[in-house]
Amino acid sequence: MTEKGQSAAGEQVRILNFIDGEYVEPIGGKYLENIEPATGKPYSLVPDSDQRDVELAVSAAQKAFPGWSRTPAADRSRILLRIADLIERDLDKLARAESIDTGKPLSLARNLDIPRAASNFRFFATAILHTENEAHVTDGVAFNYTLRLPLGVVGLISPWNLPLYLLSWKIAPAIACGNTAVAKPSELTPMTAYLLGETCREAGLPNGVLNIIQGTGQNVGSAITAHPKVVAVSFTGGTVTGRKVAETCAPLFKKVSLELGGKNPNIVFADADLDAAITGSLRSSFANQGQVCLCGSRIFVERPAYETFVQRFTDETGRLKVGDPLEKSTEQGAIVSKVQVEKVKFYVDLAQHEGGKVAVGGSPPAAPNERCKDGFFFCPTVITDLPVSCRTNREEIFGPVVSITPFDREEEVIHYANDCDYGLASSVWTQNLNRAHRVAEQIHTGTVWVNCWLVRDLRVPFGGMKQSGVGREGGNEALHFFTEPKNVCIAK
Ligand code: NAP
Repeated sequence: MTEKGQSAAGEQVRILNFIDGEYVEPIGGKYLENIEPATGKPYSLVPDSDQRDVELAVSAAQKAFPGWSRTPAADRSRILLRIADLIERDLDKLARAESIDTGKPLSLARNLDIPRAASNFRFFATAILHTENEAHVTDGVAFNYTLRLPLGVVGLISPWNLPLYLLSWKIAPAIACGNTAVAKPSELTPMTAYLLGETCREAGLPNGVLNIIQGTGQNVGSAITAHPKVVAVSFTGGTVTGRKVAETCAPLFKKVSLELGGKNPNIVFADADLDAAITGSLRSSFANQGQVCLCGSRIFVERPAYETFVQRFTDETGRLKVGDPLEKSTEQGAIVSKVQVEKVKFYVDLAQHEGGKVAVGGSPPAAPNERCKDGFFFCPTVITDLPVSCRTNREEIFGPVVSITPFDREEEVIHYANDCDYGLASSVWTQNLNRAHRVAEQIHTGTVWVNCWLVRDLRVPFGGMKQSGVGREGGNEALHFFTEPKNVCIAK
């Protein structure tokens, strides 16, 4: 940690908080080093903000609320559309910033993360123009209509794996609905949220509508969730942190949305189109180095297809190019932090203690180049022969590690899929339509993809069951979360 942003090199970019439309230093003057995962070296400084900075942000958001909440939806919509346009204009700059900050391949940031951030703003900018108010007529007695009013100041907290993608997935519906917000990105990946302040200013977003406070979960995240004037919290992150957020918010009766961890099953029946199942499973296993909450880390393959699947899948996995995230040909970039690589290593060791065999991967690769010689890399890894209910198969690794297990019967694999504390997402590969419907209905996950993975329509409910979360995001679910329904009853 350094004071007043002075780094050893003295040259690093200094990220600032964004409060009331201005970039400002943290009140305490403290900064943390922000490490580039591909090099393992600090390259910028991030504010180590505290409760005082959150206090300023909440005050700015409170001040902005009356004006913004009364701004006509059409005007709010125009500003959000401008934000989307500016994100698209700045695609190259933002994608490069996201890739450097997270270690993800530049191509992924360019093709997925940043375009999706623009889509999030565009989607909610137009969604608020097409809402309907419910009305209920009480026979001969009264007429009711429902108003959906903005809540006030909301807290938005997001993780490091898809930084701008996930933060904008909260910011866009929150401010589209007329709320004002205090947002906190992960301290590991602060850069694109920092740049978003500039974008919002250029788009004409009134001061104080969006405030971004950088820093740790312990200091900033908990100050946001505990703040009495923050009336709702939308949180995406790990299950353990989600529990803390819930514990803080419950006695304060705050509205809470929790999008948490996953240990998602990926089920391949023998009648599946195997080429499609292998290509799809490679994506669902290793996209973003396996650091997507929706990644299918438990693969189950019906016995007649098992050997062929394992052979072809491990061959393809071994061919994935791990490299410098900024190089065009790279398919697997760096893991976000040293701590996360250590966690991946721990689980690969544990898998072997639990009887698993490493079919491919299992260790860090040779340094991709001189620049990346101290970076945080790990080869995509496939484990076979694990007992179905061992720790490796139950706990979220959140890295490029999957297990493959055979099964014989449909009921057996449904049991395997559901025998887990998490319930976020699943995939089913089969050409039997009846089976697809039957299995989809019985799996306890918030999303079931059939013959695909990560196909996202922003209108559908998104979220998890069991320890994967509470509530849903997306479409009307988000519009409802960020508004309070009020019934007005008029006597006839
Ligand atoms: P995390 O450690 O739970 O952190 C998430 C966010 O919460 C970060 O901004 C973090 O700040 C902050 N935070 C930490 N402690 C807090 C506290 N006491 N109060 C309030 N905020 C606090 O999760 P992560 O390691 O960043 O992300 C990985 C996890 O996110 C995985 O479990 C993954 O499955 C989950 N995830 C879920 C979804 C979904 O849609 N369900 C999507 C993506 C990721 P700092 O980072 O600065 O500590």
